[in-house]
Amino acid sequence: MNTEHMPDLRSVHGYSPHKCGYCKKENAFASTGMSVKKMTTQDYQVLMDRGWRRCGEYYYKVNLETSCCKPFTIRMNVNNYVMRKSHQKALNKFNKFLNGEITLEDLKKKEEQKGKKIDEEKKTENPKKQPLGDKIEELAMINKYCLDKIAEIAPVLSEALQILNGALEVKSEGINKFKVVQPKKNEEVYSSNFLNLIYAENRKKFPELKLPDFIAKIKEKVLDVCKPIIPSNYGVEIKENGYFFFSFRDELKMQEEKPEKKSKNDQKLASQDQTKMEEIKTQKEKPKVDKDNKKPKADSQKMIEETKAPAADPNKKKIKFEIKLAKASCDDATFEMYKNYCREIHGSQKESKDGYKDFLCLQALDYGEIESEDKSRKLKLGCYHMKYYFDGKLAAIGVVDFTSKALSSVYFFYDPIYKPLKLGVIGAIKEIQFIKDLSTKFPEFQYYYLGYYIQDCQKMVYKAEYEPAELLCPITYHWVPFDETLKTHIDKNHNDVRISKFLKEPVTCIEDMNFEGINLEAFVKKHVKLFLQGQFITINDLAGNWKTIFVKAFKDLCAGLGKKLSSEFIFHA
Ligand SMILES: [Zn+2]
Repeated sequence: MNTEHMPDLRSVHGYSPHKCGYCKKENAFASTGMSVKKMTTQDYQVLMDRGWRRCGEYYYKVNLETSCCKPFTIRMNVNNYVMRKSHQKALNKFNKFLNGEITLEDLKKKEEQKGKKIDEEKKTENPKKQPLGDKIEELAMINKYCLDKIAEIAPVLSEALQILNGALEVKSEGINKFKVVQPKKNEEVYSSNFLNLIYAENRKKFPELKLPDFIAKIKEKVLDVCKPIIPSNYGVEIKENGYFFFSFRDELKMQEEKPEKKSKNDQKLASQDQTKMEEIKTQKEKPKVDKDNKKPKADSQKMIEETKAPAADPNKKKIKFEIKLAKASCDDATFEMYKNYCREIHGSQKESKDGYKDFLCLQALDYGEIESEDKSRKLKLGCYHMKYYFDGKLAAIGVVDFTSKALSSVYFFYDPIYKPLKLGVIGAIKEIQFIKDLSTKFPEFQYYYLGYYIQDCQKMVYKAEYEPAELLCPITYHWVPFDETLKTHIDKNHNDVRISKFLKEPVTCIEDMNFEGINLEAFVKKHVKLFLQGQFITINDLAGNWKTIFVKAFKDLCAGLGKKLSSEFIFHA
């Protein structure tokens, strides 16, 4: 008997609280779960609509009512998608990059140029006459540059701090408030509290580290990267209390100032980038020709024909961009990119190839295909990698699942040298476009699932930027438009997760998930089927101790699966 499609009995567990992976609170997060080697895409779709998520072969569902963090399932119907301005900007930049109008170096330099521009403008006018409002605005910009720089060196700072529980997180939004300190003599001093905020944001990771120690450990490195981008008429200092001070000096003092030298660290970083860029530019691949490459074919690893016009300026040549779809699989090249991504973007060095394989490369869902009504197109379902190539070189991978209703985004990672391109945003836009294109032939295939959304979790906030989003009510299993009212409700009533009350019409729990008036223990004993040592048995057939343990675990599991799937799955050991 093939047990591939049967959940592993030994993996079944109920809601026992454990340490929260998001806020790190002990015994505060509860999920039920099970492992299945191969799940059908139909069943997975049902599970997603009940708040489940998969991680490799492991399927889990969080108890939102009792858990510290509340991961709501989030999705979007692509037919209603409205692109945000900031995303449109990122897409325009990306297209310019592909057209050879702008290079990665240009993008990197752009921010620094902005900083210098401020400097130049300052030199042409008397700083004392500058209105306060302008100054605050200008400082807010500098503040933002510094913050971006700190975000860039977060992995280096993590090392300095020896944080073992992951990378230093640097929020770059919302921190641009300035306190204006009373001017002394010819000096006006402005302060920013962003280091305090970074400290507050990360302190769960190093509970024993006090603010002054935190500041002492990172101060030099932060100053190193921030100083070169601060116009020369500003002094900069980091105080022990974490306040970042900008002082604005008068013109006389400014002229005495020697031009700021680029710090060693900054030069080193810049030259590393340079080397990487050179590597890309000089990489020469043999042109490979595919005779019938009119359309990208699903599954095929077809090679690209490179357009090799001898360009005078290699920076300005057009880049051939392709997305190829391949069944999820693990190889050295993609693992290398994944490792680099984790290290450079998230400051994490712990990735193993096995971990990568189990997390992102398993073919955990059954492959199948559906055909459009007019039989002109087929949609392949299952676990895929959407591979992004620039001139034939692998640049990014979107790990996705296809069901007949949805593209579920599992993960997205890219070669960190492309960081200025905001490939995370581009990936999401391309995935949405992919669904849109196919939905013309497959009208049911119209949803973009982004997994879990936790409102307090900075890392997840981006998911709500693909609008209009919907959140799944974990009590009634109806989808609820994610608007301002709902956002405010979640902020203010953290523990009240029955969000379907915001629907215009009152709703009750969907029938299959409604266990009201049902004795769960009796349900489990009656309906759960086991396959043990070649025999089909029920939980009642188990020995006393095991019976008690399994009834307890299955009560949570079945309540999360619903009546139909609870009765359909056969659990094997
Ligand atoms: Zn938590």
